[in-house]
Amino acid sequence: MRKPIIVGNWKMNKTCSEAVSFVNAVEPMLHDAAEYGIGATFTALKDCTAVAKNLIIAAQNCHFEDTGAYTGEISVPMLADIGVTHCIIGHSERRQMFNETDETVNKKAKRLIDANITPIFCIGETEAQFDAGETENVIRTQVTGGLANLCGKCVANMVIAYEPIWAIGTGKSATKEIAQNCCHIVRDQVRVLFGDDAANAVRVQYGGSVKPDNIKEYMAMEDIDGALIGGASLKVESFEEIINATK
Ligand code: PGA
Repeated sequence: MRKPIIVGNWKMNKTCSEAVSFVNAVEPMLHDAAEYGIGATFTALKDCTAVAKNLIIAAQNCHFEDTGAYTGEISVPMLADIGVTHCIIGHSERRQMFNETDETVNKKAKRLIDANITPIFCIGETEAQFDAGETENVIRTQVTGGLANLCGKCVANMVIAYEPIWAIGTGKSATKEIAQNCCHIVRDQVRVLFGDDAANAVRVQYGGSVKPDNIKEYMAMEDIDGALIGGASLKVESFEEIINATK
């Protein structure tokens, strides 16, 4: 049985004090039916890990080198040092605006796994690719590139977030059938590359305009093991509704 994992991706939102208030407010609401987490900005991570008990505190990015002349970057050992346990990599906003590629995502995944930090590895097609019927090919290519040369056991412990770009921040969420079909393709590609054990264990999230009123229908689908949630994760009330909807 795969335990669902639901992670809020705060993007460039919340000061450190706002983030800590959120973590403190949400902690008592958590339950055992799923794992819950938030992806905070770098400036808030240390204070969030200090107060979080059960809430997963994730970074939203990292560099694959440990140290060096990379102005403005944050390395994996720096995240490990402050108690970060998960890290989002390959988000479409980073792919589109900050030149993230399957190759850099793969390097980041390797470095995170070495440091015992769980990668939340994002993939997904553009609207043009969706319209052109290229979704399956895009998913298989991104999964293959992002997971290149990793070990099956490592992949089994990862989280992969399927997020169609046309559904992110648009309010235009994928139907549950599309989301299921794409998450199934993700799992199938893991099976092709790493075998049954990895495919059956890896958790695949759907992301893209997930809200308190639609999360349940995604979670009921066979290959969907949780969600990566942007806008609806920012307010305590909305996050609480998501927690309650997934009991
Ligand atoms: P959204 O964002 O829930 O606001 O669509 C999802 C994401 O970017 O991970």
